[in-house]
Amino acid sequence: MRRFNLVEPQRLVEEEVPAPEPTAGEALIAVKCVGVCGSDIHAYYGQHPYISCPIVPGHEFVGMVTKVGEGVDESWLGKRVTALPSLVCGKCYNCRNDRFNICQELRVIGCQSDGAFAEFVRVPADKLFALPDDMSWEEAALIEPLAVAVHAVRIAGDIVNQRVVVYGGGTIGLMVMQVVKAYGAKEVILSEPDAYRRSLAQKLGADYVIDPKGVQPSQWLMDKFGPEGIDLSFECVGIEATIQEAILSNRKGTTIVVAGVFPKPVMVDMGLVQDRELRLLGTLMYIKEDFTEAIELLSSGKVQGLPLVTHRVDFAETPRAFEIIEKEKGNCVKLLIKNE
Ligand SMILES: [Zn+2]
Ligand SMILES: [Zn+2]
Repeated sequence: MRRFNLVEPQRLVEEEVPAPEPTAGEALIAVKCVGVCGSDIHAYYGQHPYISCPIVPGHEFVGMVTKVGEGVDESWLGKRVTALPSLVCGKCYNCRNDRFNICQELRVIGCQSDGAFAEFVRVPADKLFALPDDMSWEEAALIEPLAVAVHAVRIAGDIVNQRVVVYGGGTIGLMVMQVVKAYGAKEVILSEPDAYRRSLAQKLGADYVIDPKGVQPSQWLMDKFGPEGIDLSFECVGIEATIQEAILSNRKGTTIVVAGVFPKPVMVDMGLVQDRELRLLGTLMYIKEDFTEAIELLSSGKVQGLPLVTHRVDFAETPRAFEIIEKEKGNCVKLLIKNE
């Protein structure tokens, strides 16, 4: 099979290798569509804290089951599927307590194990999800990033009637924004420096958008809503400025969900976190319930995935994906690699 191996930062090399064989408990998927994630971009530039080269990227994949290993239900064969890319130990404290997303031994397909920038990808069969018949490959490729947002929102607690700030209008920010709206948030404010992403946020239901290049978000929020106006915020970028703005803006005693991947340690005013009794709540990936819910939100139309797909490349042209992302910057939200 053909695959694209990130042998070193910024060098994605096409290789011909034998297709993997599913071992006991595994399934082999012929990849039809795979999304390029922010973490793939960090990895491409050698800036992801937990991904190193060589690696075959790709964890937002959908496709058709072509083979199953020993002990796997053969009715999966020929099914259209996606899968959680989580490789977990099943034994550690969090695995035993239904939180395998933070498994002590967590590895992720496409991050620490061969991923789906390939014709075939091997996955644990217990992580497979059948796709609804009427869901396109493209829409299904958004289940994984939506599940990230669903998980982040779920651990934040009750959303009903909350005024929520989302920092960052990339895929995760735009998904979080839609999920909190679907769950009954009173108002959502999205802060994002890129004009195209702000317009997309407005189209998808943001009540207000802020350009942090033109105004300091905490100042704007204070002027508009006062010191008690913000009930909850989501940091979906992974830089110092956004987490700091959230700390400055949230009402005392509230929660800031940290969903962005920080390439390096940052300085924030922990004095304010203490004094204002703020809760900084990290979030990582998802568990199965989040995938089920993501599929439901997309199928029901409560969350829209396809407007986020701004670019597509054919599998054979996979390395072009990163050129496009570099060139298009904010105009590229979700790029899909297609092999149909
Ligand atoms: Zn992702
Ligand atoms: Zn574990």
